[in-house]
Amino acid sequence: MNKELAFLTAAQLIERVKQKEIVFEEFYSALLDRIKEINPKVKAYVRLTDDALNTSLKGVPVSVKDNICTEGFNTECCSKVLAGFRPPYDATVVRKIKESGNSCLSLKTNMDEFAFGSSTENSFYGPTCNPWKMDCVPGGSSGGSAAAVASDTAVWALGSDTGGSIRQPAGFCGIVGFKPTYGRVSRYGLIAFASSLDQIGTLTKDVRDAAILLNIICGHDPMDSTSVNTPIPDYLSGLGKDIRGVRIGVPREYFVEGLDPQVKSAIKESLSKLEGLGAIVKDISLRHTSFAVPVYYIVATAEASSNLARFDGVQYGLRIKEENLTDMYVNTRGEGLGDEAKRRIILGTFALSHGYYDAYYLRAQKVRTLIKNDFIDAFKECDYIITPTSPTAAFRIGEKIDDPLKMYLSDICTISANLAGIPGISVPCGFTKEGLPVGMQILGNHFSEEKLLNIAYIYEQETSWHEMKPNL
Ligand code: GLN
Repeated sequence: MNKELAFLTAAQLIERVKQKEIVFEEFYSALLDRIKEINPKVKAYVRLTDDALNTSLKGVPVSVKDNICTEGFNTECCSKVLAGFRPPYDATVVRKIKESGNSCLSLKTNMDEFAFGSSTENSFYGPTCNPWKMDCVPGGSSGGSAAAVASDTAVWALGSDTGGSIRQPAGFCGIVGFKPTYGRVSRYGLIAFASSLDQIGTLTKDVRDAAILLNIICGHDPMDSTSVNTPIPDYLSGLGKDIRGVRIGVPREYFVEGLDPQVKSAIKESLSKLEGLGAIVKDISLRHTSFAVPVYYIVATAEASSNLARFDGVQYGLRIKEENLTDMYVNTRGEGLGDEAKRRIILGTFALSHGYYDAYYLRAQKVRTLIKNDFIDAFKECDYIITPTSPTAAFRIGEKIDDPLKMYLSDICTISANLAGIPGISVPCGFTKEGLPVGMQILGNHFSEEKLLNIAYIYEQETSWHEMKPNL
């Protein structure tokens, strides 16, 4: 059997099948064998049993984060409180994948519990390893999806991005991560973390695959009242347009202290490359950037505290049986939720409580508008904004877990896009001397997915970072 098949991108796989060089079944057995071989080391998937691998696969299988509902298959957000939860329905994205003639693996990818985190260490199942360096984190919260794609145990994957959870792990694992505009992809069936920030997106081996998968999952959905009903271009045929004359803004607030010099120089080199292709690079300012992390941790925790109220032992997953209802609630939540989830529920409940609501939540919402307006103004003078995806490459497992503030700061480059609702992509743009991938983030105005994919594709064509493979 040809083991190399597991390394194919979705586009390559589709082409090979079309040319009758292989049949899908050969690919499935290569992929499943590779999962069995590599997953015990990388731990990108959770609940790996032979049974879990026994779904009937069709087309190009998609690996799905554990917070996206798959009918009849465990969807637990990697939380003990959802142990054994099997949704009676598919998320809209999963339904769309099935309707396109493809399938989803019943095996789900690892994540920080309820997507709270930047390292996948907050999973009930323990951390995933970074395929490039096993003692490092893959990023988070979609670290399982990113590591699965980077280790070729997934063709492509779905993740969710509330403050960077697709782009940051994609950057840490050397793959392409795309967060669409808020409202572009239905959130129906995505277990909510912070409803005004959450967005489902893609993790893929290259930009072409991102375009193909977005073509499948984007679109209006009456089941999600925040999903937007505007026409969707064909993202695949939008690839390859000349970028001469496009204006790229580089916000000075993102190039300050805390930025690893190796990351900085990788971004600078990429900007020169884009200039060489005819882009015009200019210095811009996003004045309210320094407020993004504090605003996010008020808004996101407030929404999370409300969204998580439903996990009380009555309707879903875990129930600790007790004599009376209050003890049942208290002990189910006490035992079922991890430290980070509890921290966020406490923070969010506080920010929403009487007497503090105006001082924290309301004020944060106002500053959120200022952050959004920074972007709207910036996109009057440029077509794209480029920043590092993260200030550093992947950090070591355990390095930040005891210091929540340090962990929160690792999202400093990605969070603003969620507050503003704009789309963003992370593409591989280099390696540190330790051999860890570096990601470049490209942001665009609302609903500019097609343009974003195009510039990322043009950049990718000129580089070979996305072709590098970890030695597993
Ligand atoms: N790391 C950020 C957080 O902990 C973002 C997570 C996410 O995007 N789901 O909230």
